[in-house]
Amino acid sequence: MKRLVILGGGESGVGAAILGKVKGMDVFLSDMGSISARYKQALEEHGIEWEEGQHTEARILSADEVVKSPGIPPTAPIVQRIVSKNIPVISEIEFAGRYTDAKMVCITGSNGKTTTTLLTYHILKNSGVNVGLAGNVGKSLAWQVAFEHHDVYVIELSSFQLENMYNFKPNVAVMLNITPDHLDRYDYEMQNYVNAKFRILQNLTPADAFIYWQDDPIIKAQLEQIETEARLFPFAETMEEGTKAYIDAEHDLILNASNAPMSMPRADLSLNGLHNLYNSMAAGLSACLLDVKKEDIRQALSDFEGVEHRLEYVATVNGVRYINDSKATNVNSCWYALESMPQNTVLILGGKDKGNDYSEIEALVSKKVKAIVCMGKDNSKLLDYFGGKVAEIRDTHSLDEAVKACVEIAVDGDTVLLSPCCASFDLFSSYEDRGRQFKDAVRNMLNQ
Ligand code: ADP
Repeated sequence: MKRLVILGGGESGVGAAILGKVKGMDVFLSDMGSISARYKQALEEHGIEWEEGQHTEARILSADEVVKSPGIPPTAPIVQRIVSKNIPVISEIEFAGRYTDAKMVCITGSNGKTTTTLLTYHILKNSGVNVGLAGNVGKSLAWQVAFEHHDVYVIELSSFQLENMYNFKPNVAVMLNITPDHLDRYDYEMQNYVNAKFRILQNLTPADAFIYWQDDPIIKAQLEQIETEARLFPFAETMEEGTKAYIDAEHDLILNASNAPMSMPRADLSLNGLHNLYNSMAAGLSACLLDVKKEDIRQALSDFEGVEHRLEYVATVNGVRYINDSKATNVNSCWYALESMPQNTVLILGGKDKGNDYSEIEALVSKKVKAIVCMGKDNSKLLDYFGGKVAEIRDTHSLDEAVKACVEIAVDGDTVLLSPCCASFDLFSSYEDRGRQFKDAVRNMLNQ
């Protein structure tokens, strides 16, 4: 009987454990942290042995194969021990992919993955495709493969998941953009991060499609270095050589993925901002490649409601608009947020810095930002960088303090934007927690 060990007892790990069990394997799950009650219950229900708060090495090193949660870095001592024993380490997506022949639409990039994944899913679902949603969002792919049947899966793939993928093959691979992120996990070497992302292309055949942003300098350079047999579907704001999605002179979005191109007015897209135009293009091209009817694509691109914590409008208080973009955990996503903001924005920045280079947003900050409110345990890097570059900069160490500072600074007609460029873990449990606390604080002002 195959011995399968799962490292990490979150959504993907527990899903993989259950799928392994359903497929008749001897499964053991180990988590160095604690496992939540509902996952423990699921493991018990399926008769799967597990441990938390430790890694029992002898048991783990007797595995034939290990499925590793994307959150556990390859440098973790237990992973190094496993690798030194030549035990294969794979990701949950790689594992689950072996047991389904559904079509796979896989979406990666530094920013926009979740939005594009949910938008693509929305289009397919509303057009009647039997589609599952997986990756960083929703139920794990493994769990769905064990208990549900879908003809298509739309999967959000992070670089961490791609690291341990070898034979898995998407039918449609999407790469939205590549900008510096998670460099702490890649020895501060950008190329290591790029290589992880490009694993999405490694098994594509001439029957498969690669959709990507044509103007991304890093994607462009990498495509010149590697070979792929996939059919290429680049998108860009304006048409260039070979562009398959663009805006034409009449301000229409053109999607040209098949013999019969389709178009719709750009103004009908429900998501605003240049970044969301790109996301809509990528999702629209994916749907065209899956032969979704044009009117269904038009309809779904115009009625999609957006995703929480991504440029989410919260409320207007005393004439000040508050926007929650807590998911902006790197500098590039903040750039796109600022790009779509009016002037007189009060920008809340800060948190756990991942090796950020703030020069990317400097020009937009000087154009649009009237004040920066730093919100973090240690704001020294931000204060040093932006001190003297904006009319006002504040040093705060909690959400309440930060919102209070915004209220003092912003006047009727201004916008307050939480788009922090940083991870949230210094003051919050997650970016969702940070976004919800921000929304609560803003909405509380409405009730006063
Ligand atoms: P991801 O899942 O890749 O983190 P999200 O859809 O959650 O992406 O969006 C993360 C952040 O990036 C949000 O702040 C959002 O406003 C911004 N964003 C969304 N799409 C793009 C894009 N195509 N390019 C740059 N930034 C984007």
